[in-house]
Amino acid sequence: MPVADVLVVGSGIAGLLAAIKIGEHFPSRKICVITKNEAAESNTQYAQGGISVVTDFLNDSFDSHIKDTLIAGDGLCDEEVVRFVVAQAYDRLEELIAYGVKFDRDSEGRLSLAKEGGHHRNRIVHCKDATGASVSSVLLQKLATLPNVTLLTNQIVIDLITRQPTAWHSRAGTSCHGVTLLDCASSKVSNIFSRTTILATGGLGQVYETTTNPLVATGDGIAMAWRAGAEVSNMEFIQFHPTALTSFGSNPCFLISEAVRGHGAHLINQLGERFMFKYHPDGELACRDVVARAIAMEMNVSGDSEVYLDCAHIAHHLPDKFPTIYQKCVSLGLDLYLEPIPVAPAAHYVCGGVDVDMEGRTTIENLYACGECANTGLHGANRLASNSLLEAMVFAHSCYQDIARRLDNIPLRIESLEVKTSQPLQAAERTLVLQTRASLRKLMTEQVGIIRSEKGLQLTKTCLAELSKLISKLATGIVDFDLQELRNIIDVAQLIVDQSLKRQQNCGAYFNIDHEVHSHFPLERVVQD
Ligand SMILES: Cc1cc2nc3c(=O)[nH]c(=O)nc-3n(C[C@H](O)[C@H](O)[C@H](O)COP(=O)(O)OP(=O)(O)OC[C@H]3O[C@@H](n4cnc5c(N)ncnc54)[C@H](O)[C@@H]3O)c2cc1C
Repeated sequence: MPVADVLVVGSGIAGLLAAIKIGEHFPSRKICVITKNEAAESNTQYAQGGISVVTDFLNDSFDSHIKDTLIAGDGLCDEEVVRFVVAQAYDRLEELIAYGVKFDRDSEGRLSLAKEGGHHRNRIVHCKDATGASVSSVLLQKLATLPNVTLLTNQIVIDLITRQPTAWHSRAGTSCHGVTLLDCASSKVSNIFSRTTILATGGLGQVYETTTNPLVATGDGIAMAWRAGAEVSNMEFIQFHPTALTSFGSNPCFLISEAVRGHGAHLINQLGERFMFKYHPDGELACRDVVARAIAMEMNVSGDSEVYLDCAHIAHHLPDKFPTIYQKCVSLGLDLYLEPIPVAPAAHYVCGGVDVDMEGRTTIENLYACGECANTGLHGANRLASNSLLEAMVFAHSCYQDIARRLDNIPLRIESLEVKTSQPLQAAERTLVLQTRASLRKLMTEQVGIIRSEKGLQLTKTCLAELSKLISKLATGIVDFDLQELRNIIDVAQLIVDQSLKRQQNCGAYFNIDHEVHSHFPLERVVQD
């Protein structure tokens, strides 16, 4: 029977850091990292701008980072968590540097600091415009040096193995004892039992038609934790990145980092007008929810499907500062001295997720969550740019510390469970699954996107309920990768819609035309500082 002391689901920054730290702490314990694609395929791999950390204590301060995070979160951040994260950012950054991540530095060796929307100071450390890829590659190399850590690639975790409380032990809640997974190559289903499990499964951008997230981002961890009975919150707060390169049908969309606006690029409409100051005094550097909504409104008024990022006046900096973005534009034949980049908002980040405390513990015993799939309280209604890699680093550390304290006292429960047999889908069924996925993504973009309405949400709720029934019927006796991802997409879409319907006031990334415009933070507070 396959067993591990600690199971980590996901090989992005959160999963890798947790596995490395636990693996180093317990050299004789068995740690297993499971990931559903190649090891590097994750949101982390695509992160461009960087990590927000206060490092320049002359010009920046914890208070300033805390204030920017609270303002972006529009009154719904947990201030204690914000303080906790900001205060340990520097220590976590030093660990990444010690592992070997080479952040950009100026000629005097100081960390080079960029600015992004919502930050009132330069505080984003970065590796050019490919920060995530640098971090991922260093962490994967580090993981490979640990003999007690096994990395299983191309294995999709389907569900958690849980135990319900028994009558004689009714004060204990549901507990987690491992996972069921499907080997994508052999289609074999198996169970792995563990003392404790960490979900680090990332985001859910693939619920939407246009997204910056890679194909693996289907909300699996959130869906399986929710099916197991964990608390899941703040799912209505989906962050749309304002400037994804117009997709030309590509999935995912290529991102034009906010750091390009931080470096001085202007947003203009079809008429060449720089429009952001109509919407917010911070212009292009207002928080992401504000900029994305402003672009959506410009596009609604003009009927255009894109706006433009004018980089002509900074074009000479782009090859050095943003080589990946520059090369992408060149490959599309764009001359950035003469032409602006066509951009539109795309689903980018889920601010909510599986509820965790400051130790990373979910409401299910022996189940932790960290990274984008977790709802820690840091982001509130809208994540501040570059706070997500930071959150993943801090909460992976919290999970590690709590597990280091508790692991010796957590029993390994192995049960003889029936292993589901995996049957392939018929060709017609697969077509149905793939078509349903495409239609659902379109529906979510149209009705549950940046601008929502009660009618649109109700309509989507009804469609999702029908789809859920259809897919449950189809899934009887079948375990299949495409079907499993669709099931997860439907589950998280239902969570987004249901939690949207419960929110009666516009706030942060949540905007419903049937509610009064409201912000917990009036504009005056945003521009102070
Ligand atoms: C284009 C882009 C740019 C970004 N830029 C920045 C930035 O500059 N700064 C910043 O702070 N944030 C940025 N973000 C957000 C940030 O990258 C993510 O929030 C963060 O990397 C999430 O890390 P994670 O470890 O939680 O998840 P991920 O990195 O997404 O990793 C999730 C892992 O879980 C695996 N997985 C998922 N489901 C299953 C399953 N069922 N079974 C097995 N494995 C599974 C996936 O394969 C993957 O390995 C960006 C995101 C994108 C998409």
